[in-house]
Amino acid sequence: MRAFLLLLLFCSALSAQNNLDLNYYIDSNTPLNPDIPTPKSIIGFDIGKWHISHDKVIQYMYALANASDRITIENRGTTFEDRPLLLLTITSPKNHSNLESIRTEHLAATDDNAPEDFNRPLVVYQGFSIHGNEPSGTNAAMLVAYYLAAAQDEFTQEVLDNTVILFDPCFNPDGMQRFAYWANTNKNINLTSDPNDREYSEVWPGGRSNHYWFDMNRDWLPVQLPESQARIKTFHKWLPNILTDHHEMGTNSTFFFQPGVPSRTHPLTPKLNQELTKKIGNFHAEALDKIGSLYFTEESYDDFYYGKGSTFPDINGGIGILFEQASSRGHLQESDNGLISFPFTIRNQYTTALSTLKAATVLREDLLEYQYNFYNNARKEASKISKQAIVFGDEKDAAKTNALARILEQHQVEIYNIKEDFTENDKSFKKGYSYIIPKNQKNSRLIDAMFEKRTSFQDSLFYDISAWSFPLAFNLDYEEKVSTKHLGEQVKNVIFNEGSVSEKSDITYLMEWHEYYTPKILNQLLNHGIRSKVAMKQFSLNNKTYDYGTILIPVQNQKLNSDALFSLLNNLSKESYVQIHGVNTGLTNGIDLGSRHFKTLKKPEIALLVGDGISSLDAGEIWHLFDTRYNITTTKLDTKNLEKTDLSRYNTIIIPSTSSLSKEITEKLKTWTKTGGTIIGFRNTVKWLNSNEFIKLEFKEQELLAENISFEDKSEFRGAQRIKGAIFEAKLDRSHPINFGYKNDKIALFRNTNIFIKPDKDSYNNPIQYTEKPLLSGYISKSNLDSLSNTVPLQIKRFGKGKVVAFTDNTNFRAFWYGTNKLMMNAIFFREEL
Ligand SMILES: [Zn+2]
Repeated sequence: MRAFLLLLLFCSALSAQNNLDLNYYIDSNTPLNPDIPTPKSIIGFDIGKWHISHDKVIQYMYALANASDRITIENRGTTFEDRPLLLLTITSPKNHSNLESIRTEHLAATDDNAPEDFNRPLVVYQGFSIHGNEPSGTNAAMLVAYYLAAAQDEFTQEVLDNTVILFDPCFNPDGMQRFAYWANTNKNINLTSDPNDREYSEVWPGGRSNHYWFDMNRDWLPVQLPESQARIKTFHKWLPNILTDHHEMGTNSTFFFQPGVPSRTHPLTPKLNQELTKKIGNFHAEALDKIGSLYFTEESYDDFYYGKGSTFPDINGGIGILFEQASSRGHLQESDNGLISFPFTIRNQYTTALSTLKAATVLREDLLEYQYNFYNNARKEASKISKQAIVFGDEKDAAKTNALARILEQHQVEIYNIKEDFTENDKSFKKGYSYIIPKNQKNSRLIDAMFEKRTSFQDSLFYDISAWSFPLAFNLDYEEKVSTKHLGEQVKNVIFNEGSVSEKSDITYLMEWHEYYTPKILNQLLNHGIRSKVAMKQFSLNNKTYDYGTILIPVQNQKLNSDALFSLLNNLSKESYVQIHGVNTGLTNGIDLGSRHFKTLKKPEIALLVGDGISSLDAGEIWHLFDTRYNITTTKLDTKNLEKTDLSRYNTIIIPSTSSLSKEITEKLKTWTKTGGTIIGFRNTVKWLNSNEFIKLEFKEQELLAENISFEDKSEFRGAQRIKGAIFEAKLDRSHPINFGYKNDKIALFRNTNIFIKPDKDSYNNPIQYTEKPLLSGYISKSNLDSLSNTVPLQIKRFGKGKVVAFTDNTNFRAFWYGTNKLMMNAIFFREEL
């Protein structure tokens, strides 16, 4: 008996110890169901002691779902590194048994002729740590999920009865895993709060981004990454009323919740959205006041770019909420606000995740009514232009056109084939190479947000880019006000046009260069050692005109016999959606197929500079492009090893944006270029190339003088001069190899630098030049626009036996700028002819 009593005492001491730890986060008055496993009982330590790895998140979430009838769990896909993309659905057991009809009713309320019924559960999507090195979100998610499964108080019951919670514990598994590894392996048992400690300074590229170093919180609209694709599917399946996005910011801050800066709200977002955001904010304020945590609102961050998680819902009838917690970035850091511990950051996130649910419960009817009216009003606006449609296409490039159609499909935008070929405003749209979108449809506002060009703004500062017009990013022909009479059949499932070889030839195959995936084929041919040439001039044969850049593949004297070559080309054309033509004469109208104007191409051996000093975002975009679109193998050369690396095996080195590289690296790259290498540099690298005398350029410099600007307005004044991301028009010399594959004389470019290169005195050295009035979409100050006018985004110069290609603009932006991807491919494959 005594032994039993002792054991009892020991156990209660242990449980007190446990409770003490959970009590830091969870209100100790909350009755908790003992049958629900605590995080510690599964993962082995208290939340906040270590940075949780993604494997442990999975382990715990499955354990919770097993133990609780309030939770179901599903795996919606995988990240690039094959980590599962989990979603928990949390609601009362009663709602669970009825979930599909709750969902269909919820969606029906956004459709035509829906009854005004607001007596149903609200849908709340809670997501955490899309930036992997902002870990308090995901660590808090463990506690929030535990709480929702275990709490037996009245408030929780009310939340579960009145909301369906779509719970996404980790938006970015690959990045978070990377960061957890860093923070944990550098942790002292005796915590170091010194910000200089290695723990607080991650190695390049850090854990913020995903596998290919993308900022995933910019991809909600373009949906190019697998993580976003799974998430957007859930979003449209449920149309949540509230979506929350838990982040971290600099260590010296406090806590931020939306609304952000009011004047920076996108004009397509209804005013009521921001008012409701404010009302929801009152619940966060109340909850944070209770635990004494300071916060701020409205003075930073914004709701402008719809590709961010907290802004995307605003164009889809919901309310997006951004949270930003000052980061401990490891376990404990000194800051302007005292010592910031990791548990402290977790507790603020936990607290606001719950205040979100309180707001959802109290404001339920307001939010349901808001969503109902959002779609109702959108329908009314759209019905006024019910005969209008948007058409887009590229009669020479179906794959790129289909890639945009796929984005629209993922956003549940209704798209159609065109009934037959037609021309509008001198642009011709070809069946099979075009799509048409009627404006009168449910997601009309989302369509506006994706297609509009905007050049006037209430504010001149933007948290992110100011323009993203999709048809410009895809460099497609488009018209915004065509008649719906051109509508053919609806496209429910975008299928890429099948490629083929027209006929077997014993002389030559020809492949025009316009289709998006042609570099993938050319790369394979060169890998197989198949001699391939590029046409420096246009010609015609069998009533078909072949444009500049047509690839010629001779049949004779190749490593493969004619049967094997035919079969290889067949396979390549199919997997790359490209048409290849077999021809049976060498005689053409124009240059004959044996002409010297067909230049033999040499296989590129590409190195991509990565590591300290290089922009990881820019480098990741290029790596992703090579690896996932064109199947081109590149070597990622780390700057830390460059001094001792033998560069002679590469003929092409790409330098993503950098502003400084060591003297030794600079000298080494100079020698390599002079002996015949091609350097391709982007954005700030242009300045670096110039100041290190790889290339001689003249820049338009501006003197920025503040007149009548007060000290208070200083940062606003300076910020307004920054080109944060806008779209500009340039004219093309299509006969220049850098422009091969483009069929129009104009191109849209995405620019986020303030570098203005003066054109070369010889016009043929300016194959791409900004037009006189280049602004197509987005914000730019008047003086910057004046500077940009008639300058050039590209210069190519010889350097010894080698070449330097300098781009001021990002041609690979965020994986959705399909329209300019070919410029870099041309610089690589046609480098000898530039
Ligand atoms: Zn963030």
